[in-house]
Amino acid sequence: MENKWDHFYKKSYSERLKLIAQSVGLTDEQIATITQNHDVVSGELIENSLTDYALPEGVVTGLVVNGTSHLVPMVTEEPSVIAAASNGAKLLSAGSGIQCVVPHKLVNGQVIVKNAKFATLSAFIESNRSQLISLADQSHPSILKYGGGARDIRLRKLSDHFASIDLVADTGEAMGANIMNTMLEAIAHFISDQLKVETTMAILSNFADSAVVQVTGRVNVSRLASQSLSGQVVAQRIADASDVAQLDINRAATHNKGIMNGVDAAVMAFGNDWRAVESAAHSFAAHDGRYKGLSTWQVTGDQLIGKMVLPVPIGFVGGASKVLPMAVINKQIAQIHNSKEEMQVIGAVGLAQNLAALKALVTDGIQKGHMNLQLKSLALSNGATTEELPAVVEQLQKMANPDSQSVKEILKTMRR
Ligand code: NDP
Repeated sequence: MENKWDHFYKKSYSERLKLIAQSVGLTDEQIATITQNHDVVSGELIENSLTDYALPEGVVTGLVVNGTSHLVPMVTEEPSVIAAASNGAKLLSAGSGIQCVVPHKLVNGQVIVKNAKFATLSAFIESNRSQLISLADQSHPSILKYGGGARDIRLRKLSDHFASIDLVADTGEAMGANIMNTMLEAIAHFISDQLKVETTMAILSNFADSAVVQVTGRVNVSRLASQSLSGQVVAQRIADASDVAQLDINRAATHNKGIMNGVDAAVMAFGNDWRAVESAAHSFAAHDGRYKGLSTWQVTGDQLIGKMVLPVPIGFVGGASKVLPMAVINKQIAQIHNSKEEMQVIGAVGLAQNLAALKALVTDGIQKGHMNLQLKSLALSNGATTEELPAVVEQLQKMANPDSQSVKEILKTMRR
């Protein structure tokens, strides 16, 4: 029996919209919101395009990375993230600022082989190494003109049944998922033809340990003093918090979420694949078999020093990075000119975000700083207009336990 959603992807934009609107009872106003935000070009990036979903974008100022000050555009729906990143950036940007090094930017990929004799596979790869590398290059020859190409091929035994042929490639300024997948498929066909073995899949690995940024940030402990605690005490508490994130997965996951608040927001602003960066970050956090915090902080003399190694598998070109107009503008705002600079700025934002979160946690607690912004969000989600917002927030601030009912009552009184 024909289903009304069958061949949805073949319908025109207006047919798709009409079908959805009729099915779920969208109002004319809702339909207008959808169509006003529909962009024909970005709609081509995905399938069954409906509209562009807007998220708020803000800017962190004065993040000093390797001596250069950057503005960092951040796309996030979460209140307090940009305020915290700005606070962390200010603390870390004194002197020469945050130091970032990208030793190399390579992509990992794998061909999974089933039920092959490991010794046979190993001998085959050893004796055909240069042919396999050249085959990978020839499957995507344009990468050579950008200075990239396949760099290494290795074999790992996963079990008695499965082996992984790991390819490492330099994908130039691109994130490289498509480039790598093309190379891997060529290798997989060649190996299955030559050895008559079953290849289960050929796909890049999001475990991006060959595309890391090493980030170091320092802050003089005197700058960390709060109203009731000395800078030395706050610094030691931050170091203690970082120790706990090395010991306990419950804390490590939240520690890393704080880092990713900044990382994801910048990755999105630059039009990159944040799921790839998330996947890389969390798998790297568990790379020695136990999930840990991605950053560590320690007090050395009068300095609190933070260190982080973070995989940032992004591209300066490719994907949506040149298609989404804001991604292009945001790279200009950040004054980044290549993928390594992009990785450095993203890593630096992650460490700044982490410092601000830890400082808040070990001093006032996270809620105090969040509260004003959370109250704004509470007011807006319960119907306050932007004109009414300041007055509503002012009244909510005076309440012990403001909630949605409080907003409704304030609005009712204000609108009488
Ligand atoms: P693209 O295929 O979009 O872009 C790469 C292309 O950019 C190259 O083939 C090259 O094409 C061109 N290019 C221009 N200048 C350069 C340069 N200096 N260096 C390198 N390439 C250059 O993207 P990627 O291969 O980077 O793949 C990224 C996309 O893949 C993302 O959208 C991602 O979401 C998606 N993806 C992710 C997966 C994952 O993470 N597991 C899996 C599959 C896809 P030309 O030679 O024509 O100029």
